[in-house]
Amino acid sequence: MHERIYLSPPHLGQREEQLVLEAFRTNWIAPLGPHVDAFERELCEHTGAPHAVALCSGTAALHLALEALDIGAGDEVWVSSLTFAASAFPLRYVGAVPVFVDADLHSWNMDPMLFVEALHDAARRNALPRAVVLVHLYGQCADVQPIADACAAHGVFLIEDAAEALGATYDGRAAGTFGDVGFYSFNGNKIITTSGGGMLVTPHAHVAQRARMLATQAREPVPHYEHRHVGYNYRLSNVLAGIGRGQLEQLEARVAARRAVFTRYHAGLSTLPGIALMPEAHYGRDGMRATRWLTTLTIDAARFGADCNTVRLALEAQQIEARPLWKPMHQQPVFAGCRTIGGSVSDALFATGLCLPSGSSLTVAQQERVIDVVQSCMETNSASA
Ligand SMILES: *Cc1c(COP(=O)(O)O)cnc(C)c1O
Repeated sequence: MHERIYLSPPHLGQREEQLVLEAFRTNWIAPLGPHVDAFERELCEHTGAPHAVALCSGTAALHLALEALDIGAGDEVWVSSLTFAASAFPLRYVGAVPVFVDADLHSWNMDPMLFVEALHDAARRNALPRAVVLVHLYGQCADVQPIADACAAHGVFLIEDAAEALGATYDGRAAGTFGDVGFYSFNGNKIITTSGGGMLVTPHAHVAQRARMLATQAREPVPHYEHRHVGYNYRLSNVLAGIGRGQLEQLEARVAARRAVFTRYHAGLSTLPGIALMPEAHYGRDGMRATRWLTTLTIDAARFGADCNTVRLALEAQQIEARPLWKPMHQQPVFAGCRTIGGSVSDALFATGLCLPSGSSLTVAQQERVIDVVQSCMETNSASA
């Protein structure tokens, strides 16, 4: 039996080990410490974000973004529907009301035309949301400029969920740096990882300061323990920040590796009938780059001869982990009854889509195994037809 091929496993090097050892040797095992400060600084340099706050997860970053922008009970927040649930869960932590917005077919991200029209309409009805959570899915930027412009015109906060999109650019600028707050995730499956971690970025000094304060149990800057707000214990540990610094040094190489994985899948699969890989969008001006965090595709079962579930099970039988696309938030039982703007595009993508193993450490031989299994699903069917 072959060894198992995972969807997106962590990919670590010796530099991370060195930096973690350094934390041990200097006894900086506490949350906070020199690696945390350096990791924040280095991420600012990498993304061009003016301020960064290292946190224990991307989910915590979104929670603090909402708190720092004073979004609370009853406030409406619009969110991309085709995403992981952590793009929406924190809305419930603060009592905000999610409204889900559909994707478009050429980017799989929030449909900018649908969004802008709905926002103008909400303005006319005097029913604007307080904020928008715009997701950059699978390492590709949404068409952020028209969405950011519409938000600015109506005084709506823009929060970018760039959990999957560190390293992606739009107009040559980093995903996560267009809105009032952006955040990244360093969960074990993301393009770089600290095993678990996140980073909030913002152009607003007061937002960074408030997020930092709330993340450290809302301690007021006085010698004794003084609290004016309810706080959280959300900071990243100095040990994990050491891993993050080592990983960040490798980000460009990781992006190149994931894009190479995509290119090989494209060569092996894109000519098969009924298979379409996630398109690379070319909006904005120059400087659009998707990281291809995951290679994803849709399968038209009628043309291919097998549906995405059959292909996924065939891969699983060969010890290869593939996954359906994110199930849209408007289809999730936990969000039943929430309003949705559109929805049919996300529904169709979910019904036909598959994520293939895409790790930056995936070998060419492993990838050939994946391609062979997908191809064989088609051949079996056409042979029996
Ligand atoms: C991973 C992910 C998150 C959450 O990040 P964590 O660090 O795991 O909390 C949020 N949104 C999206 C789109 C993600 O993929």
